[in-house]
Amino acid sequence: MLEEFGHASILVLGSGTSVGVPMVGCRCKVCTSADPRDKRLRPSVLLRLGDARVLIDTTPDFRYQALRFGIERIDAILYTHSHADHILGLDDVRPFNFMQKRDIPIYGSSESLTVIERTFEYVFDHAPSESSRPRLSLHCFESEPIHLAGIDFEPIRAFHGKGTVYGFRFGDCAYLTDHSEIPPESRERLTGLDVLFLDALRHNPHPTHSTVEESLTTVASLKPQRAYFTHISHDLLHATVEARLPPDVHLAYDGLEIPIGANAAV
Ligand SMILES: [Zn+2]
Ligand SMILES: [Zn+2]
Ligand SMILES: [Zn+2]
Repeated sequence: MLEEFGHASILVLGSGTSVGVPMVGCRCKVCTSADPRDKRLRPSVLLRLGDARVLIDTTPDFRYQALRFGIERIDAILYTHSHADHILGLDDVRPFNFMQKRDIPIYGSSESLTVIERTFEYVFDHAPSESSRPRLSLHCFESEPIHLAGIDFEPIRAFHGKGTVYGFRFGDCAYLTDHSEIPPESRERLTGLDVLFLDALRHNPHPTHSTVEESLTTVASLKPQRAYFTHISHDLLHATVEARLPPDVHLAYDGLEIPIGANAAV
């Protein structure tokens, strides 16, 4: 599985909630913190699997994330769900179309793809255009594994308030953002993990997001080797919260790269 890749890692492109941190106009202690780990772009990760690059979600910050982290190619994009903070950067994949000279496959639930097609109507209307548009191929998933970049991605369904979100398990790693509840059948597929990403918006309960305390309970029951919390609001000061977490549980931060597979133990 992951061991077969010469180099494999998860790069955190953004660890923030939908408005980002700092939030525009806010002068709270997190939004004004000098700690770079308190500067959070919208939530996304890039998986480096040997030479392949798989992006999870295209945030409104995607262009800046691609520049900041020197993303050199995109082989596929997986969508967790269709909220604005997870899809609005899609137009900025055009330079990757120019460089790679081919369509980029995007994978989403039928619900997500419907919203993406509606939101980016100009991309999919097949009308002649004088401007460049993203070149994409759409692939709908349900529960069956998605095989790409030499590995299976297993969609893991969870609740996001009244909505649905998908996490992805690949090898012994899983990324699950924007959830309020993980149903039992999905929990069964999140055991034996090395790395688990979970949503942890803040301390106070929220109807569509998991809190730090709720995600700690999830970690205690699923027992991954390492857990990382993401989709973080301006309620959490990195240094303070990180110091109180158990040793193998961490707040993610933008730019964090986690070696996985054969690199994990190095
Ligand atoms: Zn979100
Ligand atoms: Zn603030
Ligand atoms: Zn969401």
